[in-house]
Amino acid sequence: MERINKLLRDSIRQLKPYSSARDEFSGKANIMLDANENPFENSINRYPDPHQGELKKVISTLKEIPTESIFLGNGSDEAVDLLIRAFCEPGTDSILITEPTYGMYSVCAAVNNVKVINIPLNPDFNLDATRVDEILQSNSKIIFLCSPNNPSGNLLDETLVLQIISGFKGIVVVDEAYIDFAERPSMIQHLASFPNLVILQTFSKAWGMAGLRLGMAFANPFLVSILNKIKYPYNINICTQETALKRLATFNPEVQLKTIISEREVLAQRLNQHPEVILIHPSSANFLLVRFKNPKAVFHYLLGLGIIVRDRSSVPGCEGCLRITVGTPEENSNLILALNTFNQQ
Ligand SMILES: *Cc1c(COP(=O)(O)O)cnc(C)c1O
Repeated sequence: MERINKLLRDSIRQLKPYSSARDEFSGKANIMLDANENPFENSINRYPDPHQGELKKVISTLKEIPTESIFLGNGSDEAVDLLIRAFCEPGTDSILITEPTYGMYSVCAAVNNVKVINIPLNPDFNLDATRVDEILQSNSKIIFLCSPNNPSGNLLDETLVLQIISGFKGIVVVDEAYIDFAERPSMIQHLASFPNLVILQTFSKAWGMAGLRLGMAFANPFLVSILNKIKYPYNINICTQETALKRLATFNPEVQLKTIISEREVLAQRLNQHPEVILIHPSSANFLLVRFKNPKAVFHYLLGLGIIVRDRSSVPGCEGCLRITVGTPEENSNLILALNTFNQQ
């Protein structure tokens, strides 16, 4: 792990982490007088498990990955921020992104005074094969790749992604927030081969727990230990840990996933027939990026009818586009009905 250790900021490499009461004693005792908690039981009076042992065991089985390779964050956004803080020296280092992509990478970089290098995706939103060498030679500490990509919905070319992971000296983060909706499996299987690979997943989309704030980062145990060292000690609260455990034990997302994926295709077909629609970008996610003739007019018309979509028309590469999340079958029908009345204006 010398390679990853070298990439770390000096201050993080040398950091002695805070040791909480639950770090120093993690067993069960009859009388717990070590953490200055209120002793009167109410189900949330105790601090949560700082290492989320029970939850990680379940996720370990679900994802077929050792618990030591799992980091849990308050949303996967927490992992994005911690990775930047671990590896990027403010005012000196940079991250590399491929726009248009998820906005949090550059926001977290900006908050930490870390520069952002952008190597734009092609017009079809895939990696530009002619610029892979430039990406590999970059001095950036971290490359963020989002696959399926938000806001375009497509998977990135796997061969190029693997070329970047194997050829880049820094960290490569592959954000798989939408992988459950895709026709291709996660890149988790490659974790064992690449110590610089971090995979982000989340319970916010396919698992229906966006309100809970629970995200995952998968990486080699050394890199995960760094994230654990710099996170807030009790970053996943008791309610989140317990609710997630309950839902993981009782809910199987397969049926909803099938519905959302088939609705995505139905919605794309119907939109395709609409005279306002120029183009629907192919999607492996739970949303469609749709190019309209009059995106702003459509956006405001839908808004007036109480239907909110995301206006991405001012994002470079997404000119004319609205991003539409796939809803329930009824919501999607209502969207199409509303769009049909726009046509008749
Ligand atoms: C929604 C989304 C996430 C999830 O973030 P959470 O903080 O886990 O809710 C991560 N990455 C991308 C690209 C997303 O669209």
